[in-house]
Amino acid sequence: ESFVDAGLESTVEENVARMNYTEPTPIQRNAIPILLKGYDLMACAQTGSGKTASYLVPIISALVRKVFAGRLSTIRRRPGQGYCKATPLALIILPTRELAIQIFEEARRFTYRTPLRPLVVYGGCDTRIQRAQAAGGSDILIATPGRLKDMLERQIISLSSVRHLVLDEADRMLDMGFEPQIRELVYQSGMSRDENLQTMMFSATFPRQIQALARDFLKPDYCRI
Ligand code: AMP
Repeated sequence: ESFVDAGLESTVEENVARMNYTEPTPIQRNAIPILLKGYDLMACAQTGSGKTASYLVPIISALVRKVFAGRLSTIRRRPGQGYCKATPLALIILPTRELAIQIFEEARRFTYRTPLRPLVVYGGCDTRIQRAQAAGGSDILIATPGRLKDMLERQIISLSSVRHLVLDEADRMLDMGFEPQIRELVYQSGMSRDENLQTMMFSATFPRQIQALARDFLKPDYCRI
């Protein structure tokens, strides 16, 4: 199985090739078909396994297809919201600023020549620049929990359009004490009640707390790899 057989949207397939990803890694080989079919996913994945592309590639491919088919609008065309509030279609929550920046860079490469615009927000710095950027809109939001909560409270970001939710390095987020914030984010945004929401969790370990989160966040027919 190669990326070419995966049935990716052609612009995204070109971007994968441009990054010189010729062979999918095991997690990519397993996760991409599951995610393209729309299933929720709980994946055991270490850093360095290629886990980032295993979710970014199918999410971006699915979103680009829907945009081209006229079933979704990107930020440039979403009426009334375009330039005052970020209403992302995909939300990736992860534990640290370093990881956020790294995933954002990868998202930029995978969205090259597509209508999708990625944005990253993280704590530990002044909110002003990120607020100005968010005001320009975003289709794929990569965020750390604290800063995301802050920007939701300030109503700079709305999660009402999110179709794909990723919790990356979920065990690390729980170790850092982010569980209440993550639960609050997911429940208060109404995302968890949306039948059309595809949720995926990536974690290096499977402690009881992670299993409980998977049970609460994922649809009953979720896949586990
Ligand atoms: P990750 O586990 O997502 O942090 O990825 C680890 C590293 O592997 C990153 O530098 C990626 O750019 C790279 N990578 C991911 N998938 C592939 C692939 N299929 N072929 C070559 N390199 C890859």
